[in-house]
Amino acid sequence: MQVLKFGGTSVASAENIEKSCAIVRAALARGPVVMVVSALGGTTDALIGAGRAAASGDYRYRDALAQLQQRHVAAAQALLPPAAQPDITDVLTRGFSELLQLCDGIFSLGELSDRTLDRLMSYGELLSSQLVREALGARTAAVWADARQLIRTNARFGAAEVNVAVTRAQVQAFKSAHPGEVWVVPGFIAADDQGNTTTLGRGGSDYTAALLAAALDADVLEIWTDVSGMMTADPRLVSRARPIAGISYQEAMELSHFGAKVLYSPTIQPVMERGIPLWIKNTFAPADYGTLVEVAPPPSSEVVRGLSSIGNLSLLNLEGSGMVGIPGFSKRLFEALARERINVVLITQSSSEYSICVGVAAADVPGAQAAVDEEFAPEIASGRIAPLRPENGLAIVALVGENMKNHPGISGRLFGALGQNGVNIRAIAQGSSERNISTVIRAADVRKAINVLHEAFFEPAYKQVNLYVLGPGNVGGRLLAQLAKQQQHLQQQLGLQVRVVAIANRRHCIVDENGLDLAAWPAALAAAGPCTLEEFTELIVSRNLRNSILVDVTANPAAADYYADLLAKSVAVVACNKVAASSAYANYARLKALAQDFNTRFLFETNVGAGLPIIGTLNDLTSSGDVVRRMEAVLSGTLNFVFNNYDGSRPFAEVVRQAQAEGYTEPDPRLDLSGTDVARKILILAREAGHPLEMSDVQIESFLPASCLEGDVEAFYEQLAVHEAHFRALYDAATAEGKRLKFVARFNDGAAAVGLQAVLPSHDVYELRGKDNIVLFYTDRYAEQPLVVKGAGAGAEVTAAGVFADIIRAARL
Ligand code: ADP
Ligand code: ASP
Ligand code: MG
Repeated sequence: MQVLKFGGTSVASAENIEKSCAIVRAALARGPVVMVVSALGGTTDALIGAGRAAASGDYRYRDALAQLQQRHVAAAQALLPPAAQPDITDVLTRGFSELLQLCDGIFSLGELSDRTLDRLMSYGELLSSQLVREALGARTAAVWADARQLIRTNARFGAAEVNVAVTRAQVQAFKSAHPGEVWVVPGFIAADDQGNTTTLGRGGSDYTAALLAAALDADVLEIWTDVSGMMTADPRLVSRARPIAGISYQEAMELSHFGAKVLYSPTIQPVMERGIPLWIKNTFAPADYGTLVEVAPPPSSEVVRGLSSIGNLSLLNLEGSGMVGIPGFSKRLFEALARERINVVLITQSSSEYSICVGVAAADVPGAQAAVDEEFAPEIASGRIAPLRPENGLAIVALVGENMKNHPGISGRLFGALGQNGVNIRAIAQGSSERNISTVIRAADVRKAINVLHEAFFEPAYKQVNLYVLGPGNVGGRLLAQLAKQQQHLQQQLGLQVRVVAIANRRHCIVDENGLDLAAWPAALAAAGPCTLEEFTELIVSRNLRNSILVDVTANPAAADYYADLLAKSVAVVACNKVAASSAYANYARLKALAQDFNTRFLFETNVGAGLPIIGTLNDLTSSGDVVRRMEAVLSGTLNFVFNNYDGSRPFAEVVRQAQAEGYTEPDPRLDLSGTDVARKILILAREAGHPLEMSDVQIESFLPASCLEGDVEAFYEQLAVHEAHFRALYDAATAEGKRLKFVARFNDGAAAVGLQAVLPSHDVYELRGKDNIVLFYTDRYAEQPLVVKGAGAGAEVTAAGVFADIIRAARL
């Protein structure tokens, strides 16, 4: 005997019913079949909606019922030739007129009891099963078996408990009366001792099928649904979830109990007891293997079998010094909850015994609070125990798998993965079976958490990274182009799926959670609505995507003000913007500390020498125990360009203008010419070398006459022209001695200075050409000959490449 159950989607339309019937016919070739069906997809919800509307005096329940009737009639007409339609048309007409009467009654009473609701809901399965029997019966003889005469329950309407012995006897009796016939049975519904209709709980058709399989000692139970098996995670939350081929009964029970909707959790017990294999199969892809639930599934290399989650959870905390070391408190707590029929989903107690924490459905909180506060009224009055404190808006995320047993490091990976994404764990529970590790987190973090865990446990070679790019200007634009070009390579070689989720300039912002089209962003951004910096950063927090990175390619001081908040949410910050790293030391130190505390990254390699690996090299030196004693550097692409190109044949001002036109300078060229930009860079290097310097500690020896820095940019250029003789004199004096002018930054024994220097050919920086930068590190290990980093230190393409490298560094944390 085979029991095949078809869920709501599998019988949602005539077309789907045909598919389900074809599967039954194929199974008949292997042996007798019992077919259990759900209501047409969405019907149960619609019936509940109609009942509630009626109870609240809203007459629109009539429209809802009319629509449902229309759906059923349309399916019948599509499934059956006209001559075969009268019987089912009668059934449907009668059924819907009873439903209308029932709802009219609810409407006039203004009340919907659990018992009436069960009757109301039962029509979904009653009608679908008769419709399916007609469809199947057109070609294959089949008998309709009313589940209310097969499955006996108590009178707990809404989620009735089954009397297994009576059920078994009734099922066997029906079998004797209908030997060899195919049965079509409504799922979900049953009857109590008085013959009242009851239901087995939402999703209960799976359970009906399992009860029948057990009562018939079936060879197999097949659950036909709309996915290809039980998956590693809820496919609605994790797009890369995949079917689990083999799973044990216990694992399947844990997963379904913790929210894997694909299987109603009570389903497993009856078949497990009798060792009946349970297949989960896809009606819409019957050739797919699906999931086989059995006693001993083939061993899997993966430690975790699946992930699942339950929302709408609240934690109840009972705590107080009056509990320590006194037996009986937990008993009283659980008894009080049991009296209210409140289901405890999870329990934790620290060994201090100072508090006990239980997880319950949010809807149970008021009842639980009243019951527990009443139970402990004397202790609360005397202050030995605090009144019960509920925390709402929570959810459980659980890891399930037999292999987790005795396998160290799982919780570490779990906590590490969540921690890196700023997901705070409110409570943890692990039974000694080690088959389930449950964590309680904010409901708003579930999607992120499940995805992060799925990557950590099922896709170690894959990681999705979500970028928020601020400032798609010269450098930002190149960065986006480089990202577009490398996306495939990153995915294939590094397992990184790098997506740009949002791009913002000063005024507008575009967002797409699935990743923006990097070929089309300029037009999209031009057409986008207004967006402030604050809105943009709020977006990063509210979208709450995993592995998020803010990429700041602006020079905007206001942008840097948001770093701290983002780092504290475990959002990494990659800044081309130098403002933060060169701001007050306390702020710089705080940002670095936040990154460390919240397991994320604050990276700014391009603050010094564009794409050159200067900060990275310095970090490698210091983290391996070397000590940087002295640094000497030429760090301004602009000043290099200017002094390499100025020989008195063209005015100094004109050469500076050319540097700006060619994109070497900061947006405001005075920052370069005044030496401020170089001072910021040596300050950052000194800090990274471990010295808590402030900008005011860096000595700036300016070569500009004071008047050059007094007005705006145009006034600056005018003043440069006015002082042409001054620049010419500097050049001539150097040339006369066979020297070249270089703007050099120096760090020595904790002190930093920047200034124009005339250097001899023997000096390391003499030959520096074009826009090149150079840094010489003198350290304990590189004491005689410095470690030298040299190369192009300006330009949009190399700067973008440096930002790109930081992004990859942050992504691979
Ligand atoms: P049916 O109507 O066939 O009983 P359900 O809607 O009750 O179908 O269950 C199937 C759905 O369960 C899937 O479409 C999927 O969205 C959801 N689901 C949640 N968790 C899982 C999981 N771990 N594996 C497979 N499906 C899951
Ligand atoms: N129709 C019922 C429900 O929607 C039972 C089921 O589909 O399993 O909950
Ligand atoms: Mg279901």
